[in-house]
Amino acid sequence: MRYLVLSDMHANCDAFEAVLETVDLDGFDVTLVLGDLVGYGACPNRVVDRVRELPGEVHAIRGNHDKVVAGIESGENFNPAAAEAARWTASELSEENRAFVRDLDRGPVRVDEVVSICHGSPLDEDEYVFSDFDAFQIFSRHEAPLTFFGHTHIPSLFSQRPEGGIDVALLRGRTGSVEIEEDSRYLVNPGSIGQPRDRDPRAAYMVYDSDERMVHWYRVEYAVEKAQERIREAGLPDVLAERLEVGV
Ligand code: ZN
Repeated sequence: MRYLVLSDMHANCDAFEAVLETVDLDGFDVTLVLGDLVGYGACPNRVVDRVRELPGEVHAIRGNHDKVVAGIESGENFNPAAAEAARWTASELSEENRAFVRDLDRGPVRVDEVVSICHGSPLDEDEYVFSDFDAFQIFSRHEAPLTFFGHTHIPSLFSQRPEGGIDVALLRGRTGSVEIEEDSRYLVNPGSIGQPRDRDPRAAYMVYDSDERMVHWYRVEYAVEKAQERIREAGLPDVLAERLEVGV
């Protein structure tokens, strides 16, 4: 089985469409969407439309921005730029797309025997997983052998060997592949499509091939200046445009 793993598009249609044009969607059995479809970027409807059009078996969950935009949470913990973008997005989304975002499943979702997905952590959808201790706590309480997560926007992998040791690989701006060993467990982040934060502005996505037992990280160049122009034209905070070209 081949899984396409997409996360944190953040209403950046230029980045998301570049990824979709690069991959052959028919070549995947399952598509996993790890949340934060919207928020920050200036084309929320186009991004949600594209998610709704994904072919085949799709599992999509909500992110923290999706919840605030849909009115499920207030966003009082958001920084001013994120809060302003969420308000703008809520007014911009079509009724249908707002309902789609509101009705996204809450993670974690168990996809099959092996794979589960979440936005932040399987223990708390809003939690950030950065450290080996974060990973250790999850491995102690969450059973799935292979969990894909988003939220940090940093391509990363944590694994636990059968004897309990934790290994960490933070890929930051690199592409690469890791073998998924049968008796270890994994927490894997594909990185962000719409707002990378590993100092590489290219859109990030991932493929998991369960037959060859490999995860692969990829990056795609896209028209960053076009996404910036849309953000400025929408009157969103300029920092949201600026950060895209440096990938922070
Ligand atoms: Zn995000």
